[in-house]
Amino acid sequence: MQNHAVTPSLALSLIKKHFLPILPVEYHAPFIKVKQASWERLSWRYPDLVSNSFKAGDLGKLLEDIGVSIDWICRYTTLPPREPTVFGNLETNIFLQHCGFINVEIAHLRYLDAGKFDVFKACKYCWRQPVARRSICVVHTASDKHSTITLNSRESEVRDSPFTDYKEGKRQKEAYDKTLNKILTKETIAFHESGFNDPLLLPSAHIWPWLLERRPLVSKLLIDQNLTTADDVIIDSLLIALHSPTTLTENLLKPYLLANQHIKRHPQLIWPMLLRAEAWLTIRSKRRGNWGGNRKLVIPADTDSQMSINNKFDERFEGMEERPINNF
Ligand SMILES: [Zn+2]
Repeated sequence: MQNHAVTPSLALSLIKKHFLPILPVEYHAPFIKVKQASWERLSWRYPDLVSNSFKAGDLGKLLEDIGVSIDWICRYTTLPPREPTVFGNLETNIFLQHCGFINVEIAHLRYLDAGKFDVFKACKYCWRQPVARRSICVVHTASDKHSTITLNSRESEVRDSPFTDYKEGKRQKEAYDKTLNKILTKETIAFHESGFNDPLLLPSAHIWPWLLERRPLVSKLLIDQNLTTADDVIIDSLLIALHSPTTLTENLLKPYLLANQHIKRHPQLIWPMLLRAEAWLTIRSKRRGNWGGNRKLVIPADTDSQMSINNKFDERFEGMEERPINNF
């Protein structure tokens, strides 16, 4: 490729020439239907092929390898390499795919307000709705829109500036993404290996046992805050614990209210939020043990609420090689 400008259409034609002959025909459509190639569109083939690889049986490895190769073509056909495309909402796409596999109609519920509001949109550092036209939420912005939200009344906070949350979010971003992917990967594999029978999605009844098993740290928030866990109120409790700040202006609160109302009507929509919150709380919980003299938060020792952070898949997948759902 030296001395040649690699355009997206050249990359696409090479992908078609070299990869399509070895790729099963049912995966050709996204490459053939492209009217105008762009790096972003090509980049999406990577997570697309990797998530398809989970249900492709013996062909899984091939799909994964082609996906990774396409990612490399998108990134390394220029010097310096292109910034990797950030698939901030990959977990949403995988969630929607899972719903598709078991014929749960959910995709049409995603957008409100004539397509302007995405109920699955989230801050890149946590699970909260981001500030309008931003990729971060009120907690993680260091601007005048910053607001401190405590998850637990026992967290007495010693914060020297609005930058504390921002810096903390930034510092733990990589660990957060990895943890999220780890949970997602394990549950996705279990789901496919069970022939789609594994109860991956939020059940309509007996939600609390499901939550305790799969999202133990989120469950612990409900226990700590004495929130009710009966089926008819548990969604309200979860939204109170995770997504109901009390100190915001009307404008900043709007996305929270909109998302919460919609989730209450369609509880299944809370799934990505629970996954993100569990990943965030897992990182937070691991960091507690590592805090040294430079700590910013002071959490009183609480020996009777120590709960294992392992979910039921941790043991089963111990030592298993991680699949690259979102390792950018
Ligand atoms: Zn955030």
